[in-house]
Amino acid sequence: MPKSRIPQVTDAQITAAFTGVSNDVDPSVAARSGSDDKVAAAEAETKAPQVRAVTPDGADWLNQDSFGLKIGGIYGQRGRYALRHIDIQRHAQFRGESANSAYLETVVHGPDPSAPNSMVCTSCGEEITSFVRTAMINEDGDLRRDQDGNVTYRGQFVVTGKPMTVHAGHTGDCLYKLRNARNRRKTLESSGKSVADLLPSQSFDQANARLAGLNGHFAQRRAEGQAFQKRLGFTNEPRGSNDRDEGVNRGQFTPSTPRGHRRAEKRQRGWADAS
Ligand SMILES: [Zn+2]
Repeated sequence: MPKSRIPQVTDAQITAAFTGVSNDVDPSVAARSGSDDKVAAAEAETKAPQVRAVTPDGADWLNQDSFGLKIGGIYGQRGRYALRHIDIQRHAQFRGESANSAYLETVVHGPDPSAPNSMVCTSCGEEITSFVRTAMINEDGDLRRDQDGNVTYRGQFVVTGKPMTVHAGHTGDCLYKLRNARNRRKTLESSGKSVADLLPSQSFDQANARLAGLNGHFAQRRAEGQAFQKRLGFTNEPRGSNDRDEGVNRGQFTPSTPRGHRRAEKRQRGWADAS
Protein backbone atom coordinates (compact mmCIF):
# COMPACT_ATOMS: atom_id res chain seq x y z
CA MET A 1 0.00 0.00 0.00
CA PRO A 2 1.48 3.38 -1.01
CA LYS A 3 2.28 5.85 1.70
CA SER A 4 -0.05 8.80 1.70
CA ARG A 5 1.53 11.75 -0.05
CA ILE A 6 2.32 15.00 1.66
CA PRO A 7 -0.75 17.12 0.97
CA GLN A 8 -0.10 19.88 -1.51
CA VAL A 9 -2.25 22.88 -2.28
CA THR A 10 -3.90 22.38 -5.64
CA ASP A 11 -5.35 25.04 -7.87
CA ALA A 12 -8.74 23.49 -7.28
CA GLN A 13 -8.38 23.88 -3.51
CA ILE A 14 -7.44 27.50 -3.97
CA THR A 15 -10.51 27.95 -6.17
CA ALA A 16 -12.56 26.36 -3.41
CA ALA A 17 -11.08 28.76 -0.88
CA PHE A 18 -12.17 31.65 -3.08
CA THR A 19 -15.61 30.50 -4.03
CA GLY A 20 -16.63 28.31 -1.14
CA VAL A 21 -17.51 25.63 -3.70
CA SER A 22 -15.23 22.69 -4.11
CA ASN A 23 -14.08 21.91 -7.62
CA ASP A 24 -11.57 19.50 -6.23
CA VAL A 25 -13.04 16.53 -8.04
CA ASP A 26 -11.96 14.21 -10.77
CA PRO A 27 -14.60 13.54 -13.44
CA SER A 28 -15.42 10.04 -12.17
CA VAL A 29 -16.01 11.23 -8.62
CA ALA A 30 -18.07 14.12 -9.89
CA ALA A 31 -20.09 11.74 -12.04
CA ARG A 32 -20.81 9.55 -9.02
CA SER A 33 -21.92 12.59 -7.08
CA GLY A 34 -24.38 13.30 -9.87
CA SER A 35 -23.40 16.91 -10.38
CA ASP A 36 -23.24 17.84 -14.05
CA ASP A 37 -21.78 21.25 -13.21
CA LYS A 38 -18.91 19.65 -11.41
CA VAL A 39 -18.25 17.23 -14.27
CA ALA A 40 -18.18 20.12 -16.72
CA ALA A 41 -15.98 22.16 -14.42
CA ALA A 42 -13.58 19.29 -13.92
CA GLU A 43 -13.43 18.58 -17.64
CA ALA A 44 -12.87 22.24 -18.47
CA GLU A 45 -10.16 22.35 -15.86
CA THR A 46 -8.34 19.34 -17.26
CA LYS A 47 -8.56 20.62 -20.84
CA ALA A 48 -7.99 24.34 -20.93
CA PRO A 49 -5.09 25.53 -18.75
CA GLN A 50 -1.61 24.98 -20.13
CA VAL A 51 0.07 26.70 -17.22
CA ARG A 52 -0.62 26.50 -13.50
CA ALA A 53 -2.08 29.69 -12.09
CA VAL A 54 0.65 30.14 -9.51
CA THR A 55 4.10 28.81 -8.64
CA PRO A 56 4.51 26.96 -5.34
CA ASP A 57 5.65 30.16 -3.62
CA GLY A 58 2.72 31.93 -5.27
CA ALA A 59 0.46 29.30 -3.69
CA ASP A 60 2.03 30.00 -0.27
CA TRP A 61 1.43 33.69 -0.83
CA LEU A 62 -2.23 33.00 -1.63
CA ASN A 63 -2.58 30.83 1.46
CA GLN A 64 -1.11 33.50 3.73
CA ASP A 65 -3.41 36.08 2.17
CA SER A 66 -1.69 39.03 3.84
CA PHE A 67 -3.60 41.54 1.72
CA GLY A 68 -7.15 40.22 1.90
CA LEU A 69 -7.51 38.80 -1.60
CA LYS A 70 -9.82 36.14 -0.20
CA ILE A 71 -11.90 38.53 1.87
CA GLY A 72 -15.33 38.87 0.32
CA GLY A 73 -16.51 42.43 -0.09
CA ILE A 74 -13.05 43.95 0.26
CA TYR A 75 -13.95 46.84 -2.05
CA GLY A 76 -17.40 47.22 -0.60
CA GLN A 77 -19.50 44.83 -2.64
CA ARG A 78 -20.77 42.10 -0.37
CA GLY A 79 -19.58 38.65 -1.37
CA ARG A 80 -17.43 39.95 -4.21
CA TYR A 81 -13.73 39.24 -4.28
CA ALA A 82 -11.08 41.57 -5.63
CA LEU A 83 -10.15 38.77 -8.03
CA ARG A 84 -11.21 35.18 -8.35
CA HIS A 85 -8.83 32.33 -8.76
CA ILE A 86 -10.16 31.81 -12.27
CA ASP A 87 -8.97 35.34 -13.16
CA ILE A 88 -5.47 34.55 -11.93
CA GLN A 89 -5.64 31.29 -13.85
CA ARG A 90 -6.65 33.12 -17.04
CA HIS A 91 -3.89 35.65 -16.53
CA ALA A 92 -1.30 32.87 -16.22
CA GLN A 93 -2.49 31.41 -19.56
CA PHE A 94 -2.22 34.84 -21.15
CA ARG A 95 1.33 35.31 -19.89
CA GLY A 96 2.25 31.69 -20.47
CA GLU A 97 3.77 31.75 -17.00
CA SER A 98 2.65 30.93 -13.47
CA ALA A 99 2.53 33.88 -11.12
CA ASN A 100 5.05 33.90 -8.30
CA SER A 101 4.58 35.75 -5.01
CA ALA A 102 6.55 38.83 -6.09
CA TYR A 103 4.47 39.21 -9.24
CA LEU A 104 1.22 38.64 -7.35
CA GLU A 105 2.07 41.20 -4.69
CA THR A 106 3.53 43.97 -6.83
CA VAL A 107 1.42 43.65 -9.98
CA VAL A 108 -1.78 41.79 -9.16
CA HIS A 109 -2.83 42.54 -5.57
CA GLY A 110 -0.84 44.28 -2.86
CA PRO A 111 0.03 47.57 -1.17
CA ASP A 112 -0.87 50.71 -3.10
CA PRO A 113 2.51 52.38 -3.65
CA SER A 114 0.86 55.66 -4.66
CA ALA A 115 -1.13 55.99 -1.41
CA PRO A 116 -0.16 58.37 1.41
CA ASN A 117 0.97 56.90 4.75
CA SER A 118 -2.37 57.57 6.33
CA MET A 119 -5.70 59.18 5.67
CA VAL A 120 -8.90 59.61 7.64
CA CYS A 121 -11.68 57.29 6.54
CA THR A 122 -14.51 59.46 5.26
CA SER A 123 -17.09 56.88 6.33
CA CYS A 124 -16.12 56.23 9.97
CA GLY A 125 -13.66 59.02 10.76
CA GLU A 126 -10.93 56.63 11.92
CA GLU A 127 -7.46 56.64 10.48
CA ILE A 128 -6.42 54.28 7.68
CA THR A 129 -2.73 53.43 7.69
CA SER A 130 -2.40 50.85 4.93
CA PHE A 131 -3.92 50.65 1.49
CA VAL A 132 -4.30 47.86 -1.03
CA ARG A 133 -4.91 47.89 -4.75
CA THR A 134 -5.87 45.16 -7.19
CA ALA A 135 -5.25 44.94 -10.92
CA MET A 136 -8.21 44.11 -13.08
CA ILE A 137 -7.99 41.21 -15.51
CA ASN A 138 -9.97 41.28 -18.72
CA GLU A 139 -11.72 38.54 -20.68
CA ASP A 140 -8.55 37.66 -22.58
CA GLY A 141 -6.59 37.25 -19.37
CA ASP A 142 -4.56 40.42 -19.91
CA LEU A 143 -4.36 43.20 -17.33
CA ARG A 144 -6.83 45.98 -17.98
CA ARG A 145 -5.17 49.23 -18.93
CA ASP A 146 -6.22 52.83 -19.45
CA GLN A 147 -5.72 54.78 -22.67
CA ASP A 148 -2.14 55.56 -21.68
CA GLY A 149 -1.35 51.90 -21.16
CA ASN A 150 -1.23 52.07 -17.36
CA VAL A 151 -2.65 49.07 -15.51
CA THR A 152 -6.07 49.91 -14.08
CA TYR A 153 -6.33 49.27 -10.36
CA ARG A 154 -9.13 48.98 -7.86
CA GLY A 155 -8.25 50.60 -4.57
CA GLN A 156 -9.51 52.36 -1.47
CA PHE A 157 -9.97 55.83 -2.94
CA VAL A 158 -13.17 57.34 -4.31
CA VAL A 159 -13.74 60.67 -6.05
CA THR A 160 -16.86 62.24 -4.63
CA GLY A 161 -18.22 65.12 -2.54
CA LYS A 162 -18.83 68.82 -3.06
CA PRO A 163 -16.44 70.10 -4.19
CA MET A 164 -15.17 66.80 -5.53
CA THR A 165 -12.18 65.42 -3.68
CA VAL A 166 -10.34 62.12 -3.37
CA HIS A 167 -11.75 60.36 -0.30
CA ALA A 168 -10.51 57.19 1.39
CA GLY A 169 -12.37 54.32 3.03
CA HIS A 170 -11.51 51.23 5.07
CA THR A 171 -12.02 48.05 3.09
CA GLY A 172 -15.46 46.51 3.50
CA ASP A 173 -18.48 48.44 4.73
CA CYS A 174 -16.71 51.82 4.94
CA LEU A 175 -15.78 51.56 1.28
CA TYR A 176 -19.29 50.50 0.38
CA LYS A 177 -20.73 53.61 2.05
CA LEU A 178 -18.22 55.79 0.27
CA ARG A 179 -18.85 54.20 -3.12
CA ASN A 180 -22.57 54.55 -2.53
CA ALA A 181 -22.25 58.24 -1.57
CA ARG A 182 -24.43 59.44 -4.45
CA ASN A 183 -27.16 57.05 -3.39
CA ARG A 184 -28.11 56.27 -6.95
CA ARG A 185 -29.45 53.02 -8.30
CA LYS A 186 -29.12 51.39 -11.68
CA THR A 187 -30.93 48.57 -13.42
CA LEU A 188 -28.89 45.58 -14.52
CA GLU A 189 -29.41 44.82 -18.19
CA SER A 190 -29.05 41.09 -17.69
CA SER A 191 -31.56 40.57 -14.89
CA GLY A 192 -33.49 43.82 -14.71
CA LYS A 193 -32.58 43.99 -11.03
CA SER A 194 -32.14 47.38 -9.39
CA VAL A 195 -28.80 47.69 -7.60
CA ALA A 196 -26.71 50.47 -6.05
CA ASP A 197 -24.82 52.38 -8.72
CA LEU A 198 -21.45 52.49 -7.01
CA LEU A 199 -18.70 55.01 -7.67
CA PRO A 200 -15.39 53.51 -8.82
CA SER A 201 -12.89 52.67 -6.08
CA GLN A 202 -9.40 53.31 -7.35
CA SER A 203 -5.77 53.41 -6.40
CA PHE A 204 -4.65 56.78 -5.08
CA ASP A 205 -2.93 58.02 -8.23
CA GLN A 206 -5.75 56.87 -10.49
CA ALA A 207 -8.35 58.53 -8.28
CA ASN A 208 -6.34 61.76 -8.52
CA ALA A 209 -6.12 61.40 -12.29
CA ARG A 210 -9.89 60.92 -12.37
CA LEU A 211 -10.42 63.98 -10.21
CA ALA A 212 -8.21 66.08 -12.50
CA GLY A 213 -10.07 64.74 -15.53
CA LEU A 214 -13.48 65.51 -14.04
CA ASN A 215 -12.43 68.97 -12.90
CA GLY A 216 -11.04 69.68 -16.37
CA HIS A 217 -14.31 68.53 -17.89
CA PHE A 218 -16.39 70.78 -15.64
CA ALA A 219 -14.05 73.74 -16.13
CA GLN A 220 -14.40 73.34 -19.88
CA ARG A 221 -18.19 73.18 -19.62
CA ARG A 222 -18.18 76.27 -17.39
CA ALA A 223 -15.98 78.15 -19.87
CA GLU A 224 -18.27 77.15 -22.73
CA GLY A 225 -21.30 78.29 -20.73
CA GLN A 226 -19.68 81.61 -19.89
CA ALA A 227 -18.68 82.23 -23.51
CA PHE A 228 -22.26 81.54 -24.56
CA GLN A 229 -23.64 83.91 -21.92
CA LYS A 230 -21.21 86.58 -23.07
CA ARG A 231 -22.26 86.21 -26.70
CA LEU A 232 -25.86 86.55 -25.52
CA GLY A 233 -24.89 89.80 -23.86
CA PHE A 234 -24.93 88.60 -20.25
CA THR A 235 -21.89 88.96 -18.12
CA ASN A 236 -20.55 87.50 -14.93
CA GLU A 237 -18.81 90.75 -13.98
CA PRO A 238 -20.04 92.23 -10.70
CA ARG A 239 -23.01 94.50 -11.20
CA GLY A 240 -22.83 98.28 -10.83
CA SER A 241 -22.45 100.00 -7.50
CA ASN A 242 -26.20 100.34 -6.87
CA ASP A 243 -26.28 98.20 -3.79
CA ARG A 244 -22.82 99.13 -2.59
CA ASP A 245 -21.82 102.11 -0.59
CA GLU A 246 -18.19 102.76 0.25
CA GLY A 247 -17.45 99.11 -0.31
CA VAL A 248 -20.04 97.96 2.24
CA ASN A 249 -22.75 95.70 0.94
CA ARG A 250 -25.94 96.93 2.56
CA GLY A 251 -28.03 94.28 0.93
CA GLN A 252 -31.25 94.77 -0.94
CA PHE A 253 -33.08 97.95 -0.01
CA THR A 254 -36.70 97.05 -0.70
CA PRO A 255 -37.99 94.11 1.32
CA SER A 256 -39.48 91.54 -1.04
CA THR A 257 -42.25 90.73 1.42
CA PRO A 258 -43.43 93.95 3.05
CA ARG A 259 -44.17 93.70 6.75
CA GLY A 260 -47.82 93.70 7.71
CA HIS A 261 -48.78 92.02 4.49
CA ARG A 262 -50.94 89.07 5.52
CA ARG A 263 -50.83 86.72 2.62
CA ALA A 264 -52.57 83.78 4.29
CA GLU A 265 -55.58 85.84 5.26
CA LYS A 266 -55.89 87.23 1.78
CA ARG A 267 -55.77 83.80 0.27
CA GLN A 268 -58.46 82.58 2.66
CA ARG A 269 -60.72 85.42 1.67
CA GLY A 270 -60.23 84.43 -1.94
CA TRP A 271 -61.47 80.94 -1.22
CA ALA A 272 -64.44 82.28 0.74
CA ASP A 273 -65.36 84.60 -2.13
CA ALA A 274 -65.27 81.76 -4.57
CA SER A 275 -67.77 79.66 -2.64
ZN1 LIG B 1 -13.73 53.44 8.05
